[in-house]
Amino acid sequence: MGMNDTPSGERVHIGFFGRRNVGKSSLVNRVTGQELSVVSEVRGTTTDPVYKAMELLPMGPVVIIDTPGFDDEGSLGELRVQKTRQILHKTDVAVLVVDAPEGICPCDRQLLELFRKKGIPYLIAVNKSDLMGEADGRIEPPDESFQTGWDPVYVSAAQGDKIYELKERIAALSAAEDKSRRLAADLIQPLDMIVLVVPIDSAAPKGRLILPQQQTIRDILEAGASSLVVRESELADVLQKLGRNPDMVITDSQVFEEVVGVVPLDVPLTSFSILMARYKGLLETAVQGVTAIDRLQDGDKILIAEGCTHHRQCDDIGTVKIPRFLKGYTGKELVIETASGMSFPEDLSSYALVIHCGGCMLNEREVHWRIHCAGEEGVPITNYGIAIAHMKGILRRSIGIFPDLQKLLKEGK
Ligand code: GDP
Repeated sequence: MGMNDTPSGERVHIGFFGRRNVGKSSLVNRVTGQELSVVSEVRGTTTDPVYKAMELLPMGPVVIIDTPGFDDEGSLGELRVQKTRQILHKTDVAVLVVDAPEGICPCDRQLLELFRKKGIPYLIAVNKSDLMGEADGRIEPPDESFQTGWDPVYVSAAQGDKIYELKERIAALSAAEDKSRRLAADLIQPLDMIVLVVPIDSAAPKGRLILPQQQTIRDILEAGASSLVVRESELADVLQKLGRNPDMVITDSQVFEEVVGVVPLDVPLTSFSILMARYKGLLETAVQGVTAIDRLQDGDKILIAEGCTHHRQCDDIGTVKIPRFLKGYTGKELVIETASGMSFPEDLSSYALVIHCGGCMLNEREVHWRIHCAGEEGVPITNYGIAIAHMKGILRRSIGIFPDLQKLLKEGK
């Protein structure tokens, strides 16, 4: 994906599910084929889902997930369910494609039950409707528990029938999912001046800013405020030149210590990672979870998990910096494991603590899924920025703009 595209964490993820040969691929091609801008297509093996990021009218930026066929064949039943559940962790809207002549089969029902269990809004696309006669009537739900809201769209991928209706129905479901959570805009007033502190060190990507920084600048613009972006090395001089206090300072958490020393105490100060964690719905849990660091014992196992596999800067923080800080701060012999990308283990029961990245590449649903996995096992979960701030003793200051959270921190101690 090019750097000017909507980040995948911001796109509505639409999954197409169904058995083999129901015409799922044909339908996905119909839905996506009319679009001019398929910006990326990630193809794995035939048993992996295909992700297509694109602008899909009337929805806007989406990721279409074309899933492998969900069939009864072979002894791989459990593996198949497992794989499908992994896709469902990030699915915002599900489309179940059903074969018109065959109606709802047991594996369709199994899929419907998975959607329902995970609370994923779904709709049913009955494909090959061109093969249905007038007398064939409608496709009925597997039992009355699915009756409410049962309203399939009858489409034909072969003939291109009702494709736009299908897209409108998907759009309606994804609009209902739309959230109003903001990265920073709700914390600032129009015409505020926000200073952003961005270190440009060897780990910073060449020639550009990283995603949370870009998104924050964009959000500040949308709020009608202005941002001034500066390195930590110039911060003191720039603050002096300004002639008045900025309305807020947002810094990279790695230079938080230096920044704290320079920013006047009455200026609200926070970090990109704290804003990102709040935006993804992880902040409260992370603040609660971070105090577990103080209770770690020799031999405790810690999982450091990253949402993606290609951020050199995050990789450096996760595999080098945090393990080093943990060792120094706790003085304990800890067992540290790392996971990146899709390899997040579902069973976390053996860990004493999970430290997750800011999740800028994960959509909110997937972040919530990961929190849920930790919660199920009673394993505390926190994130990079909060963990670093805590170990450096600057967490209280960096969440000072959220008084409710400061209370949580006190209670956790
Ligand atoms: P998938 O395995 O579910 O991805 O199914 P495919 O898209 O590969 O389609 C399976 C078969 O169904 C192919 O032979 C298609 O030509 C056929 N097919 C797909 N959509 C339709 C349709 O709307 N009507 C009819 N009659 N056949 C279709």
